[in-house]
Amino acid sequence: MALIVQKYGGTSVGNIERIQNVAEKVIGWRERGHQIVVVVSAMSGETDRLIALAKAIASRPPPRELDVLLSTGEQVTIALLCIALEKHGCPARSYTGGQARILTDNAFNKARIQAIEADAMRADLDAGRVVVVAGFQGVDEDGNITTLGRGGSDTTGVALAAALKADECQIYTDVDGVYTTDPRVVPEARRLDRITFEEMLEMASAGSKVLQIRSVEFAGKHNVPLRVLSSFQDGPGTLITFEEALEAESMEKELISGIAFNRDEAKLTVLGVPDRPGIAFSILGPVSDANIEVDMIIQNIGRDGTTDFTFTVHRNDYERTLEILRQHAAQLGAREVSGDNRIAKLSLVGIGMRSHAGVASRMFEALAKEGINIRMISTSEIKISVVVDEKYLELGVRALHEAFELDKAA
Ligand code: ADP
Ligand code: ASP
Ligand code: MG
Repeated sequence: MALIVQKYGGTSVGNIERIQNVAEKVIGWRERGHQIVVVVSAMSGETDRLIALAKAIASRPPPRELDVLLSTGEQVTIALLCIALEKHGCPARSYTGGQARILTDNAFNKARIQAIEADAMRADLDAGRVVVVAGFQGVDEDGNITTLGRGGSDTTGVALAAALKADECQIYTDVDGVYTTDPRVVPEARRLDRITFEEMLEMASAGSKVLQIRSVEFAGKHNVPLRVLSSFQDGPGTLITFEEALEAESMEKELISGIAFNRDEAKLTVLGVPDRPGIAFSILGPVSDANIEVDMIIQNIGRDGTTDFTFTVHRNDYERTLEILRQHAAQLGAREVSGDNRIAKLSLVGIGMRSHAGVASRMFEALAKEGINIRMISTSEIKISVVVDEKYLELGVRALHEAFELDKAA
């Protein structure tokens, strides 16, 4: 007998029929003798709908109230799934985040899970019940409802698997695993049997939304066996694994595992600032004081005592960042502040990069062949990212997929 945590995403519980399909799957697993904890998202589109309702009243709704609102989406699905399970004679009990004692900090809209008190859930499992938990939500120490950031149900699943010491955490979604890139953009994309935590983390942080980044971090840190599968068809899915495990099974390390992309960024440039110590701090200090996260940063080589400074932020923060820079421009001695929010970031990810030279030049050559201009470049040990004009995003991803022959198994 195994203890399995299964998370079903929004599309997988998108209507009554699909919720009944999930109930049947869960019952199948239980009948094979396993203890099952199910985490569900809100029905697809519901979280967006709720956000739109709040924004129809105020452009920046109070974060606490937004979380009270957003958490209702998942509360609907836990109840409907339990009703479906009970209808088939399967004992089940629903838990909101607070009832599941998923304790978080008080950072509304992007709270972090700090602890889970799992006794009540364990007692239900031991009594033969299926435990159904609302994803994406928790409760802070004052009893306020919190949510975990978009895609946060993945993290609920992994955190519950860690707290209950589950044998596996299965993430059921609308694709049958992790692909070399988003199969909706490149139909030739190939499902990976395995990908390392490190690579999955880079893919998630570079924009692949198949798993929320925090869920991958959490699973890596707590050694949670994590698998991405389809809720619509049977198959092995993709196992997220450790590099050592690949080596132990002497599996081939692929040079490149995948391509991630992200259209959520915008870039800002401060032109003609004095090239002197402290300038990066003077520019980015006020930005970070406003709680705006900066991703890529480039400072050009100085010429005639001045330099240009470019960085990227989330597209939602673009206007506010531009405003902050304009306010400080005179004080910085800058000639001009400019920005562009029609950019996209393409990232190539693979642990094989560590031991192979020439990946970057092959990447740049493939983009050049399509006439795509690279605006910014940044690298890490296993990732190369470039910023290009947004209109080239899909062409760029396809060109890279082809250049690195990602449609073919290594
Ligand atoms: P869920 O609602 O189940 O959480 P998401 O929409 O959050 O599902 O994530 C699944 C989607 O992630 C897929 O439909 C796919 O379009 C997208 N995706 C992006 N990159 C990848 C990738 N490399 N492999 C698989 N899916 C990806
Ligand atoms: N319902 C939330 C969202 O849409 C959480 C999730 O689906 O993981 O972001
Ligand atoms: Mg998701």
